[in-house]
Amino acid sequence: MNIGIVGLGLIGGSLGLDLLASSQGHNYVWGISRNPDTCKQAEAIAAVNIADIDIENIPDRILAQTDIVVICTPIASILSTITLIAPKLPANVIFTDVGSVKSAIVEPASKICQQFNQRFVGSHTMAGTAFQGISAAEKDLFQNRPCVVTPSNDIAAVEKVRSLWQSVGMNVFECSPEEHDRAVAIISHAPVMISASLIAACQAEGDQTVLKLAQNLASSGFRDTSRVGGGNPELGRLMAEYNQSAVLRSLHTYQQSLQEVISLIENKQWEELEAFLANTQRDRSFYVD
Ligand code: NAP
Repeated sequence: MNIGIVGLGLIGGSLGLDLLASSQGHNYVWGISRNPDTCKQAEAIAAVNIADIDIENIPDRILAQTDIVVICTPIASILSTITLIAPKLPANVIFTDVGSVKSAIVEPASKICQQFNQRFVGSHTMAGTAFQGISAAEKDLFQNRPCVVTPSNDIAAVEKVRSLWQSVGMNVFECSPEEHDRAVAIISHAPVMISASLIAACQAEGDQTVLKLAQNLASSGFRDTSRVGGGNPELGRLMAEYNQSAVLRSLHTYQQSLQEVISLIENKQWEELEAFLANTQRDRSFYVD
């Protein structure tokens, strides 16, 4: 396949690495990113065959053979990026994205693509690390991780996008943009805010001796609970901004749970607290191994 990747950061760079490593020469990958050094680095680590900051500098014969373009820029620039590059690409090309929200993207992106007789299928690759940029790109990032694709009347386009993600090891689920946004608010977007609030609450300790001691004693448990709160701030802001109502709904539900725990502790209801924790111990297995 001939694949374009726009936005050569953690997700775009990692995708390019896997597409070129696994294809035994069957994939050709061209890339676009904002920063010329990023383009050079992406070529140097073999995340792309060719990359440039301007689509005009990617040869026409390469663009003309493109099957799929994957937009891996921050959420706020996904639609403007499609608008910018769609006129340079052939009719029938399939666009997809990896953005962490889907309702704000799928319908407007589909409309832009229709103007050029092109197709759009939304995706969200549920894989990441706390790092960003091309230097954070890593092989096998997507292996055995879930990926969402959104439905379309264009069944062939959905199947092609599904195959792309399966080729890098992802487990693909199909759901509407609205269902996606509510589900990821619960397990991804609200947890970023909760984990960030935990870090902020630790830093609010006023006794400098205790604060320093806490920082020295923090170990694997704190590493787990603080990981997503210590990630890319721009990504966290965009999750809340573009998925506001679902994120607020999840945070209010969380607030009720936390209030319940506070009441149990204030009232010394130790048996009830243990029962609450026994339920959460059991229920965690519904989400992760
Ligand atoms: P990232 O590491 O910051 O990579 C994005 C890259 O896009 C930047 O490094 C930047 O590269 C480039 N870029 C920014 N604006 C651009 C533009 N207008 N045109 C072309 N290139 C542009 O971020 P990421 O974590 O890969 O996230 C990218 C997308 O993946 C987001 O939409 C996010 O919602 C989604 N996502 C992220 C995760 C995660 O955990 N990180 C998981 C799933 C999905 P240069 O400036 O260096 O050229």
